[in-house]
Amino acid sequence: MGKQIQATSIVNDKTTVPSKVIDRISRCPVAVHLRNYQNGSTHQDTLYQRAVQNTPCNSKTCEGSIMSPKSLIRGSPKITPGSSDILTQAVDFIDQYYKSFKIPNPTEHQARVDRVTLEITLTGSYTLTADELAFGAKQAWRNAPRCIGRIQWANLQDHKRLEALASDFQEYSTWKDFHRPTFSEVLEEFPSVKVPAAFILSQLPLLKPRLYSVSSSLDKLHLTISVVEYHTQGGQGPRHFGTCSTWFNTIKRGHGVPCFVHRSGGFHLPADPNTPVILIGAGSGIAPFRSFWQQRIHDMKKTGLKFSPMTLVFGCRDSEKDHLYKVETLKLRLDGILSNVSTAYSRQPDKPKMYVQDVLREQLSEKVLEVLHKNTGHLYACDVVCTLQEILASKTGMTITEAGEYPERLKGEKRYHQDIFGA
Ligand SMILES: Cc1cc2nc3c(=O)[nH]c(=O)nc-3n(C[C@H](O)[C@H](O)[C@H](O)COP(=O)(O)OP(=O)(O)OC[C@H]3O[C@@H](n4cnc5c(N)ncnc54)[C@H](O)[C@@H]3O)c2cc1C
Repeated sequence: MGKQIQATSIVNDKTTVPSKVIDRISRCPVAVHLRNYQNGSTHQDTLYQRAVQNTPCNSKTCEGSIMSPKSLIRGSPKITPGSSDILTQAVDFIDQYYKSFKIPNPTEHQARVDRVTLEITLTGSYTLTADELAFGAKQAWRNAPRCIGRIQWANLQDHKRLEALASDFQEYSTWKDFHRPTFSEVLEEFPSVKVPAAFILSQLPLLKPRLYSVSSSLDKLHLTISVVEYHTQGGQGPRHFGTCSTWFNTIKRGHGVPCFVHRSGGFHLPADPNTPVILIGAGSGIAPFRSFWQQRIHDMKKTGLKFSPMTLVFGCRDSEKDHLYKVETLKLRLDGILSNVSTAYSRQPDKPKMYVQDVLREQLSEKVLEVLHKNTGHLYACDVVCTLQEILASKTGMTITEAGEYPERLKGEKRYHQDIFGA
C-alpha cells in the first residue's frame, strides 16, 4: 500500500492519502414511510431498508415483497381491530376470491365462509389457503395504480396473452371473431405494445372497392344499400360502422362517387320471356331484382311482348320498418309483372319469426316444384339450397342423394342463380 500511495502521488503530482471503504449507501430506491392513522404506527418498506444495508434479493426471498416486518414498525398499535371488523373483511375477501372463478361453486363458497367465520369467532383470526394468498397478492398488485410492479404485471399479462394469440391459431381466431377489433382497439387492449405511428401507417392495407348490385334499369343507376352497423363481442362490445355503406349514408346530393362497372357472369333474366322465374331475396338482396322488373316493364312497353309473371319472395325484419319497395312491388303485382309477392318477417311484433326458407317450405313448395321440376324455370336466390332439397325430396319421392344433387344440376343448366353478396 505504501509504495502504491507513493507512486500515485508522483504520477498525479498530488498528495495521496491512504483510505478504506467502510460503507456503501445506495440513494436508490427512495424510502417509503406510511403512517397508519388508525393505530398511529409507521411502516417502512424493506426494499429501501435492505438496500441501505446492501442485502440483495436471493432465490428464496424477494426483498421488495416484504412490507413492514415487525422490526420496522415504529410505535405500538393502540387500536386493534375487533373480530367483527376482521370477519366483515374476511367474508368480503372470500367473496371476491370465489367470484373470480370462471365456474361458480356456491356450495364450496358458503362452506368456506362458514369455516372462516368459525375460526375468527374462536381465535380472533383466520388462516388463508395458499390459493387465497396468491389471489390476494395478485389483487394487491393490480389495485396499486402507480406501482411499478403493477405496470410490469400488466406488461407481463399482455406479453402472455399476445404469445398465446401468436402461437395458437384457434385461440387467435376465437379472439378475432369475438372482438373484430380495429387497429386502435388492438392497441387499447394491449397497452404495453408501443408501435410507432409511422409503422402503423405503413401496415394499413389499401381500401378495397365495395361491390353493389345495380338496382335499376335504363338511364339512371340506383343502388339499394344496407348501412352496416353492429356491436362486437356478442352485442356487448363497441359499435362498429361499415366503411363504404356508412360513407354512402353521409354524403350529400351532388357528392362525387368513384366507381367502376363489374360484370356478373350469369346473374341475368332468361332470354325466353315465357320462362317461369322465382326471385328470392332478403334485405338489400332484393337490389338486383329491381333492375330485373324495371327492365321487364321497359321491354313490355317497347316490344308489346307478354312475359311470364315472376314470383318474388322477400325477407326482412318488420313490415313497417324495413320492407323495401313495398308499394312498388304491390303495384307490380297489380300490373302483372309479378304473379305474387310472399314476405317473411323475422321480427314482426307478436308474430313467429319467419325466414324466406320457411315461406318456401310452407307456402310455395308446389310453386317451386312447378317452376323448377315440371318446367325449365329459373331460380334467383340467396342460400336456399337445403330448403330446395327438402321440398324436392318430400314432393317428388326423390331419394336424399338425388335431391342433394339437384341444385348442382340446376346450376349446371344455368337455372339456379345464387346471390353472390357474400362472395
Ligand atoms: C357481388 C356483390 C354485390 C353486392 N351488392 C350489394 C347491394 O346491392 N347492397 C348492399 O347493401 N350490399 C351489397 N354487397 C355488399 C357490399 O359490397 C359491402 O360488402 C357492404 O356494403 C359492406 O361494406 P362496408 O364498407 O359498409 O362495410 P365494411 O367496412 O367492409 O365492413 C363489413 C364487415 O363488417 C363485419 N360485420 C358486418 N356485420 C357484422 C356483424 N353483425 N357482426 C360482426 N361483424 C360484422 C364483417 O366482417 C363484414 O365483412 C354486395 C357484395 C357483393 C360481393
